[in-house]
Amino acid sequence: MSSTISFLDSENFQALLDGLQSMGYRCVAPVPRDGAVVYDTVTRTDQLPRGASVVQEPGSYRLHQGQHDRYFAWANGPQALKPQLFKPRQQLWSATRSVEGELEFSGTEARVESVALIGVRACDLAALYLQDKHFLQSTFVDVHYRAAREGLFVVAVQCTHPASTCFCAASGDGPRVDYGYDVALTEIDGGFVLEVLSTRGRSLADWLPLQPASKAQLHAATEALDDAEAQQTRRLPGRKLRDELYGKLDHPRWSQVAERCLSCGNCTAVCPTCFCHGEVDVAELDGGRSAHFREWDSCFAGRHGYIHGLNLRDQTRDRYRQWLIHKFAGWHDQFGRSGCVGCGRCIAWCPVGIDVTEELDAICGGAVDE
Ligand code: SF4
Ligand code: SF4
Repeated sequence: MSSTISFLDSENFQALLDGLQSMGYRCVAPVPRDGAVVYDTVTRTDQLPRGASVVQEPGSYRLHQGQHDRYFAWANGPQALKPQLFKPRQQLWSATRSVEGELEFSGTEARVESVALIGVRACDLAALYLQDKHFLQSTFVDVHYRAAREGLFVVAVQCTHPASTCFCAASGDGPRVDYGYDVALTEIDGGFVLEVLSTRGRSLADWLPLQPASKAQLHAATEALDDAEAQQTRRLPGRKLRDELYGKLDHPRWSQVAERCLSCGNCTAVCPTCFCHGEVDVAELDGGRSAHFREWDSCFAGRHGYIHGLNLRDQTRDRYRQWLIHKFAGWHDQFGRSGCVGCGRCIAWCPVGIDVTEELDAICGGAVDE
């Protein structure tokens, strides 16, 4: 379906939430909380971070309120879409012991819920499609992810205010959203240029008091996106670093970065594409029932590299190398591209400000593949 383009006045923005809710969707949108922009359920546009701006640097994220009247004049927050679809903790099954001592197992039902995610950025949409490859398109389909994915309506927002940590232009994933959404908004003075890409998006648009987009409004939207791309200064040594990285397993930089890295795993928690998980059983004290959960894991955690009697990655050097080489080399073998969409979260939310673009430059500097 080709996209259709109109204009939605900001005074009528509430109609977008009302329309989605009347179509049966729970609206999940960015809200300001505890000094950051996070996703939560909303019913009103005054719950969104209107007027907010965000400054992000290596190891630093600062939210400033009340600077203007726009809703989306900030770059991404700490959460991507990942927690909405691949939950940090998910019960998979439980076991109950009968009085005769027999065990009965029951799986946790995967329920489809209609959720409209509002404010999805290009990097996070690219990450969503990468997670689809992992959870839906490999040998085993994840039923919980599939249920969440089936009920998802995507209201994308074109990124016009990148943070200094963003490099989606370098990774090839942004800042322009051009696939995978139902409706996309570009915020300009007075409202939004609204693009519709799906039949569901068309149903929503039929609800809205739209006007034809003028030439000046279309020009303003295009210019805002071009400016956003030009503002990004972080670069990658290339988009296909697989062979380069596999040839640098003994590079001295791994030990140097390990002197700073705390092995805390923040980078993997905020990364929209990381999908590692562990599984734990939680038994009731009387031994009558136990529940089995899947929880996010991290290649920086001590247990992640543990196999019977041996930890393959005992040292922080080995864990950082595992993370970076999997993300920028192993992913090419698994999914046909790098696992990095340039969101910059791992840079801003690393407590010691380790910058993945700097590390790649130090290890692969000079590599050019485009
Ligand atoms: S590696 Fe860092 S910049 Fe790349 S997608 Fe993950 S969090 Fe974002
Ligand atoms: S790179 Fe930064 S965020 Fe990642 S584990 Fe090391 S200290 Fe933590």
